Amino acid sequence: MYDFIIIGGGILGLSTAMQLQEAYPDKRMLVVEKEAGPARHQTGHNSGVIHAGVYYTPGSHKARFCLAGNRATKAFCDEHAIPYEVCGKLLVATNALEMQRMEALWERTAANGLEREWLSAEALHEREPNITGQGGIFVPSSGIVDYARVAEAMGEVFRRQGGEIRYDTEVTGLSERREEVVVETGQGSFTSRYLVSCAGLMADRVVSMLGVKPGFTICPFRGEYYRLPERHNGIVNHLIYPIPDPSMPFLGVHLTRMIDGSVTVGPNAVLAFKREGYRKRDVSLTDSAAMLTNPGILKVLKANLRPGLIEMKNSLFKKGYLEEVRKYCPELALEDLQPYPAGVRAQAVSDDGKLIDDFRFVNTTRTVNVCNAPSPAATSAIPIGAHIVEKVQALVG
Ligand SMILES: Cc1cc2nc3c(=O)[nH]c(=O)nc-3n(C[C@H](O)[C@H](O)[C@H](O)COP(=O)(O)OP(=O)(O)OC[C@H]3O[C@@H](n4cnc5c(N)ncnc54)[C@H](O)[C@@H]3O)c2cc1C
Repeated sequence: MYDFIIIGGGILGLSTAMQLQEAYPDKRMLVVEKEAGPARHQTGHNSGVIHAGVYYTPGSHKARFCLAGNRATKAFCDEHAIPYEVCGKLLVATNALEMQRMEALWERTAANGLEREWLSAEALHEREPNITGQGGIFVPSSGIVDYARVAEAMGEVFRRQGGEIRYDTEVTGLSERREEVVVETGQGSFTSRYLVSCAGLMADRVVSMLGVKPGFTICPFRGEYYRLPERHNGIVNHLIYPIPDPSMPFLGVHLTRMIDGSVTVGPNAVLAFKREGYRKRDVSLTDSAAMLTNPGILKVLKANLRPGLIEMKNSLFKKGYLEEVRKYCPELALEDLQPYPAGVRAQAVSDDGKLIDDFRFVNTTRTVNVCNAPSPAATSAIPIGAHIVEKVQALVG
């Protein structure tokens, strides 16, 4: 019998495990992960940005945890000798509408407590000679890191403190009883007093195993990237982002300096026909059927038909994708967009057809389940883990 079992070897599962073991050093804990190692899904397929917390609704979990997570991630990397760089982020307005939206974003960054600087077109050009725009906001605290390395280090800390991790162990069933939770896996069944699930793209399926009707479904959105050729590694000094449409802040490809020195363009957001499918041709009939018969997802797709089709067109035709980035980096050409692996976002959609914006957690008597943790959840992993520990402490009493 374990005291705590944590499902998921992504950054949230491992951050939670590490902090639970710190809170309860004498308790028996187990992380179960269906893949052969840590960080094989969202944690290992993302932009690697340590976000500052620009866009999020003031007071939301996202705003609070991102701000705290920005500092906590850097401190964790310092402590564990993980390379990161605080290169800062530039949000670039390319037309009059974006200049207007930039003003609203300026207010939001103030409400979220961020240090930032308003840049005129000249100041922008001085900081970034290869970037064109009418103005920009500079946010100095944004940085870059490899989140797979951060997650691995969290797993090592957990193990050193006495925690156990079992890979290749897929959870196939859960039953919550009066005194315990039974966790059925491909490697046999385990019992635990309490359970935490951080199952990313499978969050809804895992919470449903408990007999809970979660009120949401995970909708997978593939984020496709390109990498620039090595000669362009110095093309930008900061992370370059467009000013987003406030109703769809996750749309708009950015130029990202990666911690290995390369520069990527992306990600876009296209509906994925397989939850953990990273190539365009990956299709799961089960996942597609579940998605395309879900009234909530159908409502979201209908409401966002136009931007959705544009994203799909730009995914199929590189030229359209290029035009998105050429708005602010005109010197890039088609041959500069070289292949780079995609990621798949786990975005929860409510039964009444809304993209759930904030991080969401669902509790039962003996379990805490992370149900929506899209970006900036990698940045926020340490405060999210601490929040889950508090929730568990409340259950333990
Ligand atoms: C394209 C893209 C770009 C992003 N960019 C950024 C960024 O720059 N900065 C940022 O802060 N965030 C970013 N994010 C978001 C961030 O990557 C995720 O929010 C974060 O990694 C979520 O971590 P997780 O542990 O919840 O999920 P995951 O890393 O997906 O881990 C979930 C784990 O659960 C396991 N699992 C699922 N079901 C079971 C089961 N039944 N049994 C056992 N194990 C199971 C999976 O195998 C997986 O390993 C990005 C995401 C994407 C996709």
